Amino acid sequence: MTHSLTEEQRLLIDTARGFARQSVEPLAAQIDREESTPQSLIDKAAELGFFGLCIPAAYGGSGASLTDGCLVLEEIAKASPSFAGLLSVQMILCPWTVLRHGNPEQKQRLLPASASGERLMAYSQTEPAGAGNTAFHQTKLRADGNSWRLNGAKLFCTQGSAKTYLVWCRTLRDGQEGYGLVIVEQEAPGFQVAPYEEKLGWRGTNTGPISFQDILITPENVLGDLLTASTTHGPINQASFMGHAATSVGCAQGMFEKTLEYVKGRSLYGAPMHVLSPVSHYLAKVHNKIEACRALLYSATAQYDDGAMQKPMGSVCKDFICETAFECCNTLLQLWGGSGIMNSTGINRYFRDARTKLIAEGATEMHTSMVSADVLDLRAPVLQS
Ligand SMILES: Cc1cc2nc3c(=O)[nH]c(=O)nc-3n(C[C@H](O)[C@H](O)[C@H](O)COP(=O)(O)OP(=O)(O)OC[C@H]3O[C@@H](n4cnc5c(N)ncnc54)[C@H](O)[C@@H]3O)c2cc1C
Repeated sequence: MTHSLTEEQRLLIDTARGFARQSVEPLAAQIDREESTPQSLIDKAAELGFFGLCIPAAYGGSGASLTDGCLVLEEIAKASPSFAGLLSVQMILCPWTVLRHGNPEQKQRLLPASASGERLMAYSQTEPAGAGNTAFHQTKLRADGNSWRLNGAKLFCTQGSAKTYLVWCRTLRDGQEGYGLVIVEQEAPGFQVAPYEEKLGWRGTNTGPISFQDILITPENVLGDLLTASTTHGPINQASFMGHAATSVGCAQGMFEKTLEYVKGRSLYGAPMHVLSPVSHYLAKVHNKIEACRALLYSATAQYDDGAMQKPMGSVCKDFICETAFECCNTLLQLWGGSGIMNSTGINRYFRDARTKLIAEGATEMHTSMVSADVLDLRAPVLQS
């Protein structure tokens, strides 16, 4: 750990580590194989307060910082990067979206239920035109008296057992177009979830298409300003990217620890495997890279928590850390030889989860573009307000 931890943070890490070892690790292979997270594990995470960790106490949570959230995600990702990915969406992206844009009634309606795990949320932006290509998105709100109707379809929505959907859509008011956010409940007439697709990694939660046919959106289900919610949303995305980077650090660290144990216990050509210099060098280099990623991550989360973020640090983390973590997992897989390719060792799920992180929550290139725009001063960076 490169930054000093408070006593509370040490306790939080101990709790997350205990949960990861006792409750997540024994189920990690099953989660990966069966492409679902057992409800018992979700219930246990809720009981420990992880869903509500970063939700203010007034809404049933613990009011913890982004740094605290990332410390927990890192620990859990060591056992199951996939389950940590699910938690990240529930711990940061969805509740902080509601906190950012919601009015008091909406916060009271959605956040306590999310903190308790009773009604988890999903975040839906991506469409066939491309995730970031929002000007070409087809999901639209049209006025219907004092309310609206929502029509369209989304791709790759990570849902698992979510019941409340936060949906981005094109909007129109007084002839002016915008990109806004609405709340859609799973039970709404006209809402459909298509069959999930099997996927390479991050298999602990279902990701698939959803669609909306003439769904009634009443004013209490519009989150934030109808036309401009997207223009003030940047900081939430940045925080969420850091959450995902934390799961990548944990993913690489978890695979590193398992690989170290494996290498120490294996002999090759009559000698311990680690005396082969490439093997020990690979381990050292992976170790160094993980340390560098961790240092960057917690420097970024501290900037965020202090309200001092001057650059799109979430994109910096997502770009550098997720890519470096994947390189680490790729190197580590090599040390397992054929055993790493076999599913029975349970090691290649780390590699697959790390690879998935190069696409989920924005492809690496999208983050590089964001950082290069900031570096070249091509447009206003996404800052914390
Ligand atoms: C497991 C998983 C879970 C997901 N969960 C969700 C979810 O819950 N909600 C949600 O809304 N979306 C979700 N997504 C979608 C995800 O955010 C997108 O897949 C990702 O942002 C890439 O967008 P795309 O698939 O539309 O690819 P495209 O936009 O078609 O991009 C294809 C490629 O073009 C390049 N590219 C794209 N944009 C840029 C750019 N700006 N600069 C430079 N190069 C670029 C990249 O190489 C990219 O991989 C999830 C995806 C995965 C894999």
